[in-house]
Amino acid sequence: MTSRIDLCFINGYAPSWAGRVAEESARVLGRPVVSVDLEMDLPRYYSADRGQYNATLILAGLLRFRSDPHSKIVGITRVDLFIPVLTFVFGQAQLDGPGSLVSTHRLRNEYYGLPKDHERLVDRTIKEVVHEVGHSFGLVHCQDYNCVMHAATYVEDVDLKSASFCPSCESLLQENGMRPRATA
Ligand SMILES: [Zn+2]
Ligand SMILES: [Zn+2]
Repeated sequence: MTSRIDLCFINGYAPSWAGRVAEESARVLGRPVVSVDLEMDLPRYYSADRGQYNATLILAGLLRFRSDPHSKIVGITRVDLFIPVLTFVFGQAQLDGPGSLVSTHRLRNEYYGLPKDHERLVDRTIKEVVHEVGHSFGLVHCQDYNCVMHAATYVEDVDLKSASFCPSCESLLQENGMRPRATA
């Protein structure tokens, strides 16, 4: 069974390139990706201490919006995300679970004091979406530097890898994606 992926742009985030991210990630993931507008109560996930939003809690909240029990949901937000043990995260996913989340906050050149680069932002966002959805299909980090499942600590790491899966991640994705599952 081929599960559909809902790409949810959170709270009015409507970049002109939304369609490109959906299209390109659908191509790489080999399944339909549908763009959806989503309203969430983001302020409740804000940590005043850190000036950031708690990715784990947003992800848990996101699951309520899943369209059907077989679909995957991936949220896209502009806000800066953290998990308690890390300074920040580009994204977060439930390994082999339905949900994942990506922030474009630190994918923008402007964040690093560099000139705006539209194409770079789109490219990085596609890679992060594919990477997090890969986790939700049960893929772990890959040693192959070119594979989209290679871990990225800095934005430069995102630039170095491709948006595609290496052959072994690709075959795992196919295998795991075909597995019949009933998730609550
Ligand atoms: Zn990862
Ligand atoms: Zn790989």
